[in-house]
Amino acid sequence: MSDCIFCKIAAGEIPADKMYEDEHVLAFKDVKPQAPTHILLIPKAHYASLNEVPEQEKELVGHLLMTARRIAGELGIDGEGFRIVLNTGPNSGQEVYHIHFHLLGGRAMTWPPG
Ligand code: 5GP
Ligand code: ZN
Repeated sequence: MSDCIFCKIAAGEIPADKMYEDEHVLAFKDVKPQAPTHILLIPKAHYASLNEVPEQEKELVGHLLMTARRIAGELGIDGEGFRIVLNTGPNSGQEVYHIHFHLLGGRAMTWPPG
């Protein structure tokens, strides 16, 4: 997707503070952090949201989640806990239509979310 900001980050056309990268996924710091740790995890392939991810890509979704968990462990926030968010569609507040997990930690969260 030529006009997608996260595709441009995945392609290295826009800089990002990268935490992890492999053939399929990229993790980078959110430019406007909402917690001491706020990392975004994206697939390199463009899917606008979870609604567009085909069933056969479930391994990719699992890989994103397990990568988030591993990064949480490496950053030492796994013990105190963290939150993973996957905004999907207008009611969720999704702003960037390239699927991404938020990994948030380093402070206590409230529930329910706003
Ligand atoms: P959403 O509301 O779509 O779930 O979250 C989009 C997130 O992407 C927001 O937290 C926002 O701060 C982040 N973001 C938007 N543009 C950029 C960017 O160019 N670079 C980085 N690192 N984060 C971005
Ligand atoms: Zn994209």
